[in-house]
Amino acid sequence: APKPLIAGNWKMNGLAAALSEAKAVAAGAAASAARVAICPPSLLVHRMSEALAGTPVLVGGQDCHTDESGAFTGDVSAEMLADAGAKLVILGHSERRSGYRETDALVAGKVKAALRAGLEPIVCVGETLEERKAGQALAIVTRQVRGSLPTELAGKAFAVAYEPVWAIGTGLTPTTPEIEEMHRAIRATLVEMFGEAGRAVPILYGGSVKPSNAAEILHADEVGGALVGGASLKAQDFLGIVNAL
Ligand code: 13P
Repeated sequence: APKPLIAGNWKMNGLAAALSEAKAVAAGAAASAARVAICPPSLLVHRMSEALAGTPVLVGGQDCHTDESGAFTGDVSAEMLADAGAKLVILGHSERRSGYRETDALVAGKVKAALRAGLEPIVCVGETLEERKAGQALAIVTRQVRGSLPTELAGKAFAVAYEPVWAIGTGLTPTTPEIEEMHRAIRATLVEMFGEAGRAVPILYGGSVKPSNAAEILHADEVGGALVGGASLKAQDFLGIVNAL
């Protein structure tokens, strides 16, 4: 199995002063069994890439446009992220799906853009509480996986992140059997789509991961890492997760 991936999603948090947290993560993550990444706001990608040069900690974006350049006021392209030093990019986060009406088809287009720029996409999927209560979680999430992952991903490095919407920033998490059930369903879908290569794709869990629950979640069946929001903002918390493996 590939090394687990533990990625911090800073969301819209972090001024230049926060670069010291990233440097502290790099200092404390040197012996980690995981690949470690931080995805700061796009304005910090360049400075963070320079600050972390020579360390194993990778830098990623949180979103990108489908096009390489053009008249798209306010947007950032995958090529721009790569030019600034990013190696990965989070795509299809629930906050983008709900706040910016991103569809599976749009996310798949952004994944193609990431591949065009040589970035490793982390593609997010996850059900709402209403969908889970209605017994639709597995159907919704596997449909998102099918719709958000273009065939161009065959042979490329990428990850899927299962982030139940109701677990994001709430302190709530699914039970370990619930996480394993979903991750097994995502694995089966990946194998359907990509054949045996689908077995090597890391499936990250995201949603209220913290140092106190990280070991149990990271050791669950078919969990290949974590996508961490709030607990990635402070080096001490993030390192508690990174070193829980
Ligand atoms: P929290 O870890 O703050 O729940 O956020 C999870 C998330 O959305 C990561 O992308």
